[in-house]
Amino acid sequence: MKEFDIHSILDEVSRAMGQAMENYSPLPETEEIGTIRSVEEGIVWVGGLTRVQFEELVLFDDESMGMVLDILPDRVGIVLFGSNDTLASGQRVARTHRILDMPVGPEFLGRVVDPLGRPLDGLGSMGETERREVLKEAPPILDRSPVVKPLQTGLKVVDALIPIGRGQRELILGDRQTGKTAIALDTIINQRGKGVKCIYCAIGQRSAGVAKTISDLKERGAMDYTTVVVVEGDDPPGLQYIAPYAATTMAEYFMHRGEDVMVVYDDLTRHALAYRQLSLLLRRPPGREAFPGDIFYIHSRLLERATHLKTELGGGSLTALPIAETEAQNISAYIPTNLISITDGQLYLSPDLFQKGVLPAVEVGKSVSRVGGKAQIPAYRKVAGDLRLSYTQFHELESFARFGARLDDSTRKSLNHGLRVREALKQDQFSPLTAARQIAVLLAVTRGYLDPVPENRMARAQEAVFEKIEAALPDLEDRIDTIGSDDPLWEKMDQVIRDAIREVEAPDADPGSSG
Ligand code: ATP
Ligand code: MG
Repeated sequence: MKEFDIHSILDEVSRAMGQAMENYSPLPETEEIGTIRSVEEGIVWVGGLTRVQFEELVLFDDESMGMVLDILPDRVGIVLFGSNDTLASGQRVARTHRILDMPVGPEFLGRVVDPLGRPLDGLGSMGETERREVLKEAPPILDRSPVVKPLQTGLKVVDALIPIGRGQRELILGDRQTGKTAIALDTIINQRGKGVKCIYCAIGQRSAGVAKTISDLKERGAMDYTTVVVVEGDDPPGLQYIAPYAATTMAEYFMHRGEDVMVVYDDLTRHALAYRQLSLLLRRPPGREAFPGDIFYIHSRLLERATHLKTELGGGSLTALPIAETEAQNISAYIPTNLISITDGQLYLSPDLFQKGVLPAVEVGKSVSRVGGKAQIPAYRKVAGDLRLSYTQFHELESFARFGARLDDSTRKSLNHGLRVREALKQDQFSPLTAARQIAVLLAVTRGYLDPVPENRMARAQEAVFEKIEAALPDLEDRIDTIGSDDPLWEKMDQVIRDAIREVEAPDADPGSSG
């Protein structure tokens, strides 16, 4: 019988234990690698990834990535950013311990990219660039400071009556084909030379529309300081879902360098539809209008990222111009009300005004800017002070007058004045105006100098005002940001404007003689 040697047994046990310790890994392989259970349109269900985190990236066998958007006890729902063609049930899925990030940087200005930063313009790779998290949290309140600088849209009706400040969130809201995109594009074009970088994010639009937008921006030199992020309606809903966050991530790069940047989300109604589609695929219970209950959070989490950072953090700003489409002018539908309550105001575009040719079709009575007033160039206050009131009163008067009511002289006079105000606030697309030009026209109309000008000569009168003002007061443009309300410049402007209009008003005025 073999002798029982306790020492040799102990040696053997401890050797075995040491080996076991060496081979020990804290996570058994089954928790790092899962298996596809089923593949659906835009999402897949995966089993076995019991420790995966919400919004973590996972890697498929075909090297494409997905993002965890739903965690259930027995499986996780993964959204896809690409097609599901090469995925099949039974394939392996690996955790990455990473969350979604994307390339950012100045290399992206002038480029058209998808929400993962991949070029769509055929101009080649951006090279090595910095990467940033896409679904980042918004800056805390303590990092923010009040909005103090204006974001000039170049549109008289907006800059005078519903002014927007850098770091503000202003919703552009209206039915189909009311000029929503046009307002955003004019604002981008007006940033030329003003140091505001722009990101235009097209979500779910038809490609012909997007191509037109890009060529409009190019033609006016706006691509030099703009990035266009595009995701189309037939792209996977996961890619549509992350698009506005990706645009914001690109913008934050500039904000954190102390620069000013503006993002247009065109539009968040389509974004909400993509998210609704994802949620239904993930079989989440639908809520109001079949949207998932967290759609409010999805949009507030996005728009909270717009802000003006305090000086210690560089003082950069991110202005958000989300666009939303209403149906039959119903601004109290679910998505519009959500967005109205998340933003600092809205520009409401009316199909009635659009049809009447009052463009931009901003309905002043339903539009508001809750923070931009403090940032507005002070000179506007002098000329736009009671413009808003007289303009809304005019609208009421006008509908009253339409019933053929007999009008007394003073009513007729204020109707006539209101008509001129409306005419003066009209503006063609792609013709943003400098603050000095805007203020000159507004001064002319508020002081009633345009009242005797026939409606069909209003445009010519405005041109004459611009020309004469620029010839007589060439330093107005530089001084406009700071002139006080009793600066002698106002009286000089007044004189020049009256002279300019008198020439146009005269019946024998020759259109070719000015200048
Ligand atoms: P959609 O709902 O299809 O996105 P939208 O509300 O964005 O439409 P736009 O595409 O901006 O509307 O404008 C609709 C049409 O009106 C366009 O052809 C545009 O060129 C024209 N338009 C918009 N604003 C003006 C303007 N101020 N002056 C002249 N034309 C304009
Ligand atoms: Mg549009």
